[in-house]
Parts: sequence; structure tokens; C-alpha cells
Amino acid sequence: MTGLDPDNWDGLRALGHQMVDDMIDRLSTLRDRPVWQPMPDALRARLRTGLPHGPTPPEELYARFRELVEPYSTGNVHPGFMGWVHGGGTAVGMLSELLVGGLNANCGGRDHAPIEVEREIIRWAAEMCGFPDTTTGLLVTGSSMANMIAVITASRAVPNGLDMRAKGVGTRRLVGYAAATAHGCISRAFDLTGLGTDALRVIPVGADNRMILPELERAIAQDRAAGLEPFMVIGTAGTVDTGAIDDLNTLADIAARENIWFHVDGAFGALAMLSDALRPGLRGLERADSVAFDFHKWAQVQYDAGCILVRRPGAQAAAFAQSRAYLAREDRGLATNAPWYCDLGPDLSRGFRALKVWMTLGTYGADGMGDMVANCCAIARHLADRVEANPRLELLAPVTLNIVCFRIIAPVADLDHFNGEVVKDLHESGIAAPSTTVINGHKAIRAAIVNHRTTNADVDRMLDALLELADRRLTAG
Ligand SMILES: *Cc1c(COP(=O)(O)O)cnc(C)c1O
Repeated sequence: MTGLDPDNWDGLRALGHQMVDDMIDRLSTLRDRPVWQPMPDALRARLRTGLPHGPTPPEELYARFRELVEPYSTGNVHPGFMGWVHGGGTAVGMLSELLVGGLNANCGGRDHAPIEVEREIIRWAAEMCGFPDTTTGLLVTGSSMANMIAVITASRAVPNGLDMRAKGVGTRRLVGYAAATAHGCISRAFDLTGLGTDALRVIPVGADNRMILPELERAIAQDRAAGLEPFMVIGTAGTVDTGAIDDLNTLADIAARENIWFHVDGAFGALAMLSDALRPGLRGLERADSVAFDFHKWAQVQYDAGCILVRRPGAQAAAFAQSRAYLAREDRGLATNAPWYCDLGPDLSRGFRALKVWMTLGTYGADGMGDMVANCCAIARHLADRVEANPRLELLAPVTLNIVCFRIIAPVADLDHFNGEVVKDLHESGIAAPSTTVINGHKAIRAAIVNHRTTNADVDRMLDALLELADRRLTAG
């Protein structure tokens, strides 16, 4: 055998048709199945086959997938999934992944159409965020990586910042600022880049869960007085816990006045830029130096697809580009078409993420996406109204976008424990899957309406099931 291609293409074609049929059937009947179910230990054990030294027909592997994998997936495609912030994906996105696999393009660089598609997606993203045509950016695994690229780019953009590429952070004492509500990946970025998590100043938030701006200004002044080098402020458009949006426009003013980089983590919230009704709430995002967000969350593109945009031309390449003989750029042939994406981030080999974004946004249109995003917020409002109308329930945070944090009030000694247990009961019921968090010291049930398939009836079903499971626990207990 000299290659891995089949000698029976027709068999593979039939298998492919079967797979597409099965997956379309699955996606068109999601409500007939549980949101999630635990994978039995006996099935987990059957996945542990060890390195397969001999061949297995793909039909046999597909049969194992159908039995061992498909029924025990995360559940975020299901309309009852409301946990964390997970996108639902679409059938069109799924089909685009088939095309991506067929081309198997490497989007690290060189002169080919998949690079042009990614460039177009970056232009679309820039337009969505109100950024200029000269914006640079790339698609990455997710907002964790996108935020890290922003931290690296911003830290290299300070005076003599490029010296750090050779000498490391050394004796420089760079400090950045983000609210206490910022996502954990921001602190992780400070950790991984060698700036250290202590170099990220945690600014407190008010009752609206937004950064207290006078506290930010005080912290910057204090750091400057101590001889430190403030380089970056990070605002969040849609915090992970409650969906709060920092006052981005005033943050932009402060960053301009202080001459520091203004970055926005808009992991899911940036998609609200596509809705005329929601866009005013994000005013100031269009003034940022960089924005990180995900296509795989609210834009419903298949995992994984994050995006980083950088306004200042050349800043991203200055922070990441390298020259190596084996990656030389030529004047014609395949090795042209600079800049290459490997110059704008840490990855050299990169998949063709752009096609699933191109097909998904193309199919539904940016306006349709904006309507879907606004609809998720309306469903969250409906849920919040039901919570507020029910004396057995307590709303724990204001609802800005699509996230509702609440808890069940019951005559028990430990409400936090009780609420946590009822959420686990709900997961195991297969009816719905919210997650939990802690708000002002209280365990909260957290429903994030991110899936385009979720309706008011789905959140009603979730809430009714929660209350019933709570009753069951109270009568049993
Ligand atoms: C999800 C999220 C992130 C992390 O994004 P990933 O795509 O999971 O890496 C960062 N910030 C916020 C506000 C998020 O919601």
C-alpha cells in the first residue's frame, strides 16, 4: 500500500451519505432526546482499545461512533442547553466542515483562496465592530487565545516594547487593568506571557457589575507614581457571569488620555453589534485598539472559531512575525501573498476556520444574526420576568443581555447547596442544562440563552422542571 486512499471510493461515498443523513436527522429532531446524559462506565471502557495496530473499516468505526460517542455529547446543540456560554452550531456549519476537511488547507500562509476567505472574514468582523479597513486580525481557537494575542500585541506596542521579544519582560514593570468580572483567560494571558498575574490590576465593580471607573483612574495614577508602566486596559462587552457591559466609551476616553492600549473582550457580547437595538449598549467598542470575540458562541459557528482584531496596522506583525529560510516569501509561485497568518499569531499550521464562518454568516446574513441575538435577549427577559413574578425565586443580577442569574428560595439550612443539587438533578433529568456561578456570595443558577434554537417554551420547561425537582427534594428531605 502506498497511500491511505480507499480502493473502494463508492463504499466511502455511501458511508458519507449515511453520515450526512444521520446527522441531519439528529439536528432536525433534537427535542426528542435528552439535552445530556452521562456516559455509562461500560461504554467509556470500550473506548479504551489501545493504539490500533491493524486496520478497522471506517464503517465499523462509524458504528462505534453512533453507539459510544454520538449519544453522550455535551448537549449544546439542544435548545434546552443554557449552561456556560455555548453556541448551538448549524447544519450549514456542519456541512462546511466537510468541505474544509476535503480541501485540508493549511492557512498559515501562502497564495491560495482559503487565505482570501479568511481575509474577507476579518473584513466582515472589522465592519461588525466598526473598525477600519486597515484592521488586521485572524481566526484562532477561541477568545482565550484571542485575548492572549491582544495582551502580547499591546505589551509590545509600548515604547521600546519590541525589545521584549529578545530580552523578555526582564526589568520592565508593565501593568494592565481589568474589572473583577473579567474572564479568567485575561489573568491567564498575563500568566502565560510572563507579565505575571500580579501585573493585572483587578478593578472593583458596582452593583451593576460594571467596572468602577474612578477606581481605574486611581489605580493607574497610583501605579504611575510608583514608577510602573500602565500599558493596557481591558473592558468586557458581556461578562461571563451576568452579561454586564463595561462603560466602553468612557474606558476609551480614559485609555486615550492615559495613552494606553484599550482592549475589549467581547467573547459573546460583541455579536450584539449586529443588532440595531443592542448596539448602543456597546458604544465605545468601535474605538478599541483590539477586540477579541468568538464566532463559536453567539454566531453559532461550529467549534472552534475565535477572532482577534487589531486596529493599529503593523502592531500585530511587529509582535509575532519571524523570518526563517524555510518560510521565505517569494515574488511568484505558491510562496507569495504576504502577509501570512503565521506572522500575526503564535500558530504556524492553521486549519481553514474561515469557511464555516463564511458559510454560516452568508446563509443567515448579518441582520439575521443580529435578530437572533436580540431574540436570545428577549427570551432571557422572559425568563427574568418569570423569576421576578415568582416569590419562590430570586433574581440575583440585573439582566443586560442574555444571561439570567437566579436562585430558588426554600426552607433549607444551606440554600447554596440546595440550588447546586437541584441543578445537578436537572442535568440528570435530561430536560435542560443551566450552569451555576456565585453572585455576591450566593450560589446562582445561571441560564445563558445562546442557542438559536432556544425558545420561550424551552426556558419555561427549564423553570418548571427546576421547581418540580426542588419540590421533590423538599418532600424527600
Ligand atoms: C467564553 C469567554 C471567554 C473565553 O473564550 P473561549 O472561546 O472559551 O476561549 C473569554 N471571555 C468571555 C467574556 C467569555 O464569555
